[in-house]
Amino acid sequence: MNYTFAPPATVSVPVVGLSEQFPVHRIYCVGRNYEEHAKEMGGTGREAPFFFMKPADALRYAAPGATAHMPYPTLTSNLHHEIELVVAIGTGGRNIAAADAQRHIYGYAVGLDMTRRDLQNDMKKAGRPWCIGKGFDHSAPIGSITPAAQVPNIGQATISLGVNGAVRQNSTIAQLIWNVAETLEQLSAAWELQPGDLIFTGTPAGVGAVVAGDVMQGDITGLSGIRVAVVAA
Ligand code: MN
Repeated sequence: MNYTFAPPATVSVPVVGLSEQFPVHRIYCVGRNYEEHAKEMGGTGREAPFFFMKPADALRYAAPGATAHMPYPTLTSNLHHEIELVVAIGTGGRNIAAADAQRHIYGYAVGLDMTRRDLQNDMKKAGRPWCIGKGFDHSAPIGSITPAAQVPNIGQATISLGVNGAVRQNSTIAQLIWNVAETLEQLSAAWELQPGDLIFTGTPAGVGAVVAGDVMQGDITGLSGIRVAVVAA
């Protein structure tokens, strides 16, 4: 094959305990999937799930025990953290029933849906797409993927985010409005899921701003935690 130029490298995420890398296809994100967060964003707390996407190369890998760096993005003065459970799809499919969802899941990771909140709010008001608020470069820090079989109780896990050692977000995966299986059912009705897809499942209440110099610590019980420093661009 002759390409016009060298094609970009495949984006991938390490897997806990294995030498293999999980190759990433797409990144789907779920909006307002914890009741208290939906309310803090001005919603009623329970509405049908909705989705947006980030480009795969927006991922920023945070290795265990290390501090990853995320450059403060351009065009914003209100960069928000959103800690989220990430589902990694191993087996694709369309119209997946919730009862059948588990066999499509390869594993789970801790992720951050970093958001230019000021730009997202501007776009909402104007009825325009969220891309500039959500899908910017380095907007998706992520930790290593843990195979699903190693975390059978993920549905009951605690999810938390601290900034400079102070807890900002703290909830449990059980608080999801649409649980992981239901999310797969709804998402796969709209897109055919493929191996390598990642799904950011939504954030609990407590989102807020970070600035250059802040260090975020994200954890979900049983998964590889992430430590991400926001650095001046
Ligand atoms: Mn989010």
